[in-house]
Amino acid sequence: MNIELIEEIKKLKREKNAIILAHCYQNPEIDEVADYVGDSLGLSRLASKTDADIIVFAGVYFMAETAKILSPNKKVLLPNLKSGCNMADMIDLKMVKEFKEKYPDVPLVCYVNSSAEVKAQCDICCTSANAIEVVKSLGVKKILFAPDCYLGSWVQKNLSDIEVISFPGYCPTHLRITPDDIIKAKELNPDGVVLVHPECTSEVVKLGDFIGSTTQMFDYVQKTNYKKYIICTEKGVFDRLQRDYKEKTFYLVNNRVVCHNMKQNSLDDILNSLKNETYEVNPEPEIARKALESINKMIQIKGKSVFNIK
Ligand code: SF4
Repeated sequence: MNIELIEEIKKLKREKNAIILAHCYQNPEIDEVADYVGDSLGLSRLASKTDADIIVFAGVYFMAETAKILSPNKKVLLPNLKSGCNMADMIDLKMVKEFKEKYPDVPLVCYVNSSAEVKAQCDICCTSANAIEVVKSLGVKKILFAPDCYLGSWVQKNLSDIEVISFPGYCPTHLRITPDDIIKAKELNPDGVVLVHPECTSEVVKLGDFIGSTTQMFDYVQKTNYKKYIICTEKGVFDRLQRDYKEKTFYLVNNRVVCHNMKQNSLDDILNSLKNETYEVNPEPEIARKALESINKMIQIKGKSVFNIK
């Protein structure tokens, strides 16, 4: 751990009245300088309530965009421009418009893991924690869901009286988990409780004892008394669970569940970002306004999502 670097970042943060938000898929060293650690929407909502002038978002691009949409008067910085999201990049403005045109009059629910442009086209946003409640709240018989077809399948499985038509996007990181991985992990740890993220394939989801977002997984571990958990989501969650719950044992379902985009941000990038105020994320005002409407509709349905406030 580079103590000098950490101290320099903390000093600059104070001087510039900045806060650092760290998504829980970041390298754990980032937590050393972070003011808040959590999921993307929870972090953005929390940041909007602070009096900071600058938000450094250690996450991926769409997360910094969401933070800016919720905090239009703050400067929002992404430390490393290589931090994109493969799932969010699977759908652009043209594609979302074509998807909607194919099914006129069917409301579009959009996972927050999408660009501001795409959010601006939807009727309401959702997270992996509240997707089922959001869809239910619409009171319709048919919905469009984008961009994650597997989260769409999870919603469909839970709401059999609603037809869910999903865009064919997916998270390549969660797709690296196979049913075989879980079967093998269970053979080695028969008493392990299997926690699965709903971005995984339906075959993988079927094998889970508990299905939930990263925040819900943390809550579940905190509230249950099992000794062993098999973690089926990005490695950052496993790293933090191991660090925070030393009395319990965690197994990462395989060592391929790493989102390399998320791991792009380093402490050096964060220092550079604070020093030079780079890279500013600033969606066009009209797009931001429409995207905010979709996010706000969701917030009115369900609130809390940050799991750890330092
Ligand atoms: S884990 Fe998947 S959804 Fe999350 S940032 Fe990485 S590619 Fe995107």
